[in-house]
Amino acid sequence: MDDAMTVLPLVFDAPKRGMPPRHLADLSREEAREAVSELGHPPFRADQLARHYYRGVTDPAQMTDLPSAARETLTEALLPGLLTVVRHQTADDGRTRKTLWRLHDGALVESVLMRYPGRATVCISSQAGCGMACPFCATGQQGLTRNLSAAEIIGQAVAAAAAMANGELDGGPGRLSNVVFMGMGEPLANYARVRKTLDALLTPAPHGLGLSQRSVTVSTVGLVPAIRRLTDEGRNVTLAVSLHAPDDELRDTLVPINTRWKVGEVVDAADAYAKRTGRRYSVEYALIRDVNDQPFRADLLGKLLAGRLAHVNLIPLNPTPGSKWDASPLPAQREFVARLRAAGVATTVRDTRGQDIDGACGQLAAADAEPGVPSVAVGPLAGARREPASGGGQGGPSTVEPPVELGAEGDQ
Ligand code: SF4
Repeated sequence: MDDAMTVLPLVFDAPKRGMPPRHLADLSREEAREAVSELGHPPFRADQLARHYYRGVTDPAQMTDLPSAARETLTEALLPGLLTVVRHQTADDGRTRKTLWRLHDGALVESVLMRYPGRATVCISSQAGCGMACPFCATGQQGLTRNLSAAEIIGQAVAAAAAMANGELDGGPGRLSNVVFMGMGEPLANYARVRKTLDALLTPAPHGLGLSQRSVTVSTVGLVPAIRRLTDEGRNVTLAVSLHAPDDELRDTLVPINTRWKVGEVVDAADAYAKRTGRRYSVEYALIRDVNDQPFRADLLGKLLAGRLAHVNLIPLNPTPGSKWDASPLPAQREFVARLRAAGVATTVRDTRGQDIDGACGQLAAADAEPGVPSVAVGPLAGARREPASGGGQGGPSTVEPPVELGAEGDQ
């Protein structure tokens, strides 16, 4: 670590400004029925409206099962437009599509939809910017603009489900099968709204997308109290912990939240989650050249995780132009994988989808930032990427899965 590292403060409390109007997706089924009643319509209209919404239909003209008088009133009151497409970018022969969204207050966030044989995954953002200040991450350098509302988070998944159903990605119509919270923001710092989002993702139609728990992954940089809270909730979604360093000395600087909760506390909290759910968690580790990719750190990580219900997902850093942070060279990656596996730790290397479309969190939003727009980068990267860049920080929405082998033995 050198003196060029940017040090930003940790920000836990998001500004209250800028939250969007109430939306159907913010409401439970009971609340939605109540809201519809208050608007003078029978409660079951809420179910009809929800069925349309979760299928991606917001145009009243298409809601032919609703009386025409109800359509306008209900859509205006409960389906305000929260996400506007600024642009789509496609990569990987049309199988990856990154979307830059403008929110009602001008904040910019992004999501990435990735199609694989037999499944489709969307990576969604939970905050505009991020307050966790990881120095190697483009989003972290923007600071935290605000939390997204539940409907703003859910809307990204609903749009992805509709895009798949409509065959907007190469390969024809399909079904959204997986959601990962690895876009902009620290999901567990926006806990209540992320929890509502989980409800909507897992609830069957008409009031949700009906995904299975194991196909939804919540990532965290290590907010230990929130991991414990998630453990107590009783949900069995997949947990991913962004560790990025096995030792407190390095992690204190690379992942500043470590100054609050140490490596040992984070893995203990993740262990408790795994114990309760019976499912292993994923340890995300961005491999950064000469920073955390040394063989001795692989050994430390192996020692830390051996015997735990954990799986390591290594992510070669997506470099930001002009940044000192760079991806580990392939031989270093291979060595790291080999040492982890020798320690008996299941290890994969993440596919890097969409590198040619600024494939990680914060990249596209930073490239599009305008003066006065709330999510403009405020750190040293501000203004440095007016043009789309070729890579990005971590937590990155386009680099999620599947794991690819680096010439070592499979471990799945
Ligand atoms: S790596 Fe994740 S937690 Fe850290 S600043 Fe970036 S988005 Fe936030």
